[in-house]
Amino acid sequence: MRDLLGGKGAGVAEMTKAGLPVPPGFTITTEACNAYYEAGKQFPPGMWEQALAALRIVEQQTGKTFGDRHNPLLVSVRSGAKFSMPGMMDTVLNLGLNDETVQGLVEQTGDERFAYDAYRRFIQMFSKIVLDADPREFEQKLDEYKERTGASSDAELPASALKELVAEFKQIAERQSGQPFPTDVYEQLKRAIEAVFASWNNKRAIDYRNFNKIPHNLGTAVNVQSMVFGNMGNDSGTGVAFTRNPSTGEKELYGEYLLNAQGEDVVAGIRTPSKISRLKEELPQVYEQLQEIARRLERHYRDMQDMEFTVERGRLYMLQTRSGKRSARAAVKVAVDMVEEGLISEEEAIRRSDPTQIYQLLLPRFDEEAKARAHKEGRFLARGLNASPGAAAGKAVFDADRAEELGKAGVPVVLVRPETSPDDVHGMLVSKGILTARGGATSHAAVVARGLGLPCVAGCEGIRVYEEEKLFRVVGSDVVIREGDEISIDGDTGEVFAGVIPTVEPNFEKETELQKLLSWADRIRKLGVWANADYPRDAQRAVTFGAEGIGLCRTEHMFMEQERLPIVQKMILAKTPEERQAALDQLLPFQRSDFIGIFETMVNPRTGECYPVVIRLIDPPLHEFLPNYEELLVEVTRLEATGADPEALKEKKALLDAVAAMREMNPMLGLRGCRLGLLFPEITIMQTRAILEAALEVAQKTGKKPQVKIMIPLVGHVNELREVRRQLEAVAKEVTAEAGSAVEYKFGTMIELPRAALTADQIATVADFFSFGTNDLTQTTFGFSRDDAEGKFLMKYVDGLDAPGLPEKVKILPVNPFQTIDRDGVGQLVRMAAEKGRAANPQIELGICGEHGGDPSSIEFFHEVGLDYVSCSPFRVPVARLAAAQAAL
Ligand code: PEP
Ligand code: MG
Repeated sequence: MRDLLGGKGAGVAEMTKAGLPVPPGFTITTEACNAYYEAGKQFPPGMWEQALAALRIVEQQTGKTFGDRHNPLLVSVRSGAKFSMPGMMDTVLNLGLNDETVQGLVEQTGDERFAYDAYRRFIQMFSKIVLDADPREFEQKLDEYKERTGASSDAELPASALKELVAEFKQIAERQSGQPFPTDVYEQLKRAIEAVFASWNNKRAIDYRNFNKIPHNLGTAVNVQSMVFGNMGNDSGTGVAFTRNPSTGEKELYGEYLLNAQGEDVVAGIRTPSKISRLKEELPQVYEQLQEIARRLERHYRDMQDMEFTVERGRLYMLQTRSGKRSARAAVKVAVDMVEEGLISEEEAIRRSDPTQIYQLLLPRFDEEAKARAHKEGRFLARGLNASPGAAAGKAVFDADRAEELGKAGVPVVLVRPETSPDDVHGMLVSKGILTARGGATSHAAVVARGLGLPCVAGCEGIRVYEEEKLFRVVGSDVVIREGDEISIDGDTGEVFAGVIPTVEPNFEKETELQKLLSWADRIRKLGVWANADYPRDAQRAVTFGAEGIGLCRTEHMFMEQERLPIVQKMILAKTPEERQAALDQLLPFQRSDFIGIFETMVNPRTGECYPVVIRLIDPPLHEFLPNYEELLVEVTRLEATGADPEALKEKKALLDAVAAMREMNPMLGLRGCRLGLLFPEITIMQTRAILEAALEVAQKTGKKPQVKIMIPLVGHVNELREVRRQLEAVAKEVTAEAGSAVEYKFGTMIELPRAALTADQIATVADFFSFGTNDLTQTTFGFSRDDAEGKFLMKYVDGLDAPGLPEKVKILPVNPFQTIDRDGVGQLVRMAAEKGRAANPQIELGICGEHGGDPSSIEFFHEVGLDYVSCSPFRVPVARLAAAQAAL
């Protein structure tokens, strides 16, 4: 009943119902709070009478009477909204005290000091919360008395001093508020309830709700509860406890307490609380009872609880219980343990788990304390986009070759680039992390880093990278980081630091609870989960994480390695078909050995059978393999100016001409994808041969049957696919004929252009499978550049734009469509293409291999559309397994 009673009210009501020791009390509902506001800040009719009736019951239950001079009932008045808003709203304790009832408190407790201390605390709190008095004057007066009596803490103030303080406090309150301090306990109660209602709309509370996106119309409940005192000696105390350890998930009481103290003392941090395990020695019966209550609460709520309690003269009282916040690790362990304890079902464990948290579990991360220290020491440099999670520390290096050199020598490096391109991949492979000044969530750096499981901070506009000088500057400061200087990047938060922050490494094989949770997910989900992997190393990781195939192997990445690039360049710049063929012949063995490695790796560890592997033929524009035009131009100009080395000049000039001839204004829409294969069939023919020869060799060597799927990218018209397929089928026949044995292979295409989606029925007649390339499909459907949009305007679309004439920022898009599929637009194309494809070719297999394949919300959509599998970077495989199961529940 959290809507009506607020979190705290619902918790104490539930505990009371369950027969746990809760101080008697009642809750005024959030509805009453809203009615109070609607009536222009008046109690709704009947509310006060109901409160009084409830108070009578509390009196009966406690055997005390509100306002009685011999045996007074004292109450706390606390706020309690549906969502916890810690410290944002107000509380009054010890309400019901005046000059007469305080005598009754002395009689009840036999402790004059205690009674007057409670009284002065009440006046202080009531003045601040209800009378809106400035609390500083009270504090000053308190200090004055401490000094005068030589007391070193509040607790040492003698009764006589407290009595005087009470009189002084009342005077301050009256002077500040311009009215007599209310002695009528009913007036005290009425005004405290009003003050709690009013605190719902204090500035702190409004700001907190704005920040945490909590609606403003929920209202707060008011909890009126009989007081229990944790400060009545050493058999009293107060504390907080979790039913399980919130950071490890271990099943043990976890928390802390203070003897002879009230709640504020724990929060104020004046005394250091003791670990809850010590309670076992100090108050063994209370400890045992608390443990029993923890068990009962967990059984009741079927979740880990966070409890507040007070002990008054050896008697335990429960003041609050709620579901406890926990770390990613604890969340998994608690969910799995609770299934094994029979508290929840496997489905419930899946439903409760947060796929994003699972991802964090598998990545190295910074030691939190060390990071906090780095902040304190002023080592924070800038913040960019948290493009790929995890944490990395190492020497800053500004070019990929140098990164490769150092990385291979075992030096931890962080590659820092203005932005990355395919010719940086060899350097990225050996780096611990990537930092770029430009680019967004699907920029090259981000996509490749996620694929490799490398932390990446992209689009960090707070730094300027000077490649030539091998340094970056921090904008707005004179900090310079040069090659070799240590830096640390946090891909979870986008933070960049100077110096090394130590990291903590996880190990999937040892994550037995996570493995168990995922095995349940596997049983529930309908979607297959495959991985995007370009190298045997990634494929191995994908299998370890539970991938059931490779949905995308981007072959061009293999062209980028240092020893191959010169051959690739020769192939591109060849003047005759013979020259080109010679270069391709040199490349073939490289590609074949890459594919052998992948086929050998992609084996189901349980059955020993081969998993499917989708290998995509070359996709990006050829100029990406060539030197940068501007840099080349500078070099040629320099050679011309110096007049030295005419041979070198001639060679460079030829290269410049070739590069110039290949330049395109809009390479993303240029000569790439299947268009390359149509113009230069030799390349894709070589690749197809390499793929099939590799599969045949693995089949022969291992006796297994590789499942080969050859994918043709960027098809927009069925004729493109038809022609490429015709050529490649011929090669496939030739290769298998030469080998004298067959291997199963399929040809399919990517659906990554709107026209392909619109004509999917035609394309399906010549494709064995479709894989949705939602990166390009998002780019071309929205007309947003994958490389530039996020930095230039897209993040503003998501965060909100200044809107002339309006008080608040205007959001154009709810989320970044490169991260979470745009269901209405891009998603509609996917759905339509899937339907059309299946109608035209019922056997067709449907998958998705864009970045969205690892995004939980997008996975839910792909499940709904009925795709066969999603393919994502290896590190996201566990996330996808869980998200796919959640989608199926
Ligand atoms: C895509 O476009 O979604 C895709 C997977 O291919 P790439 O990212 O290599 O263009
Ligand atoms: Mg693409």
